[in-house]
Amino acid sequence: MTGMPLIRKSETGRPCQACGHPTAAKDPAVFVDGARIHESHTGDPKSGFYRASFKRSR
Ligand SMILES: [Zn+2]
Repeated sequence: MTGMPLIRKSETGRPCQACGHPTAAKDPAVFVDGARIHESHTGDPKSGFYRASFKRSR
């Protein structure tokens, strides 16, 4: 037995690659072009990620 988890841990709590602040339950991490950013950036036209396709990490 290796004890390796089959399900990846949530990305929540890891730093956002757009603003550098940690992601949190109220503003969870999403992936845009492989970058982990706050979900809120996808709704902000000034962020550069507005309406970008993204995949939820959980
Ligand atoms: Zn951010």
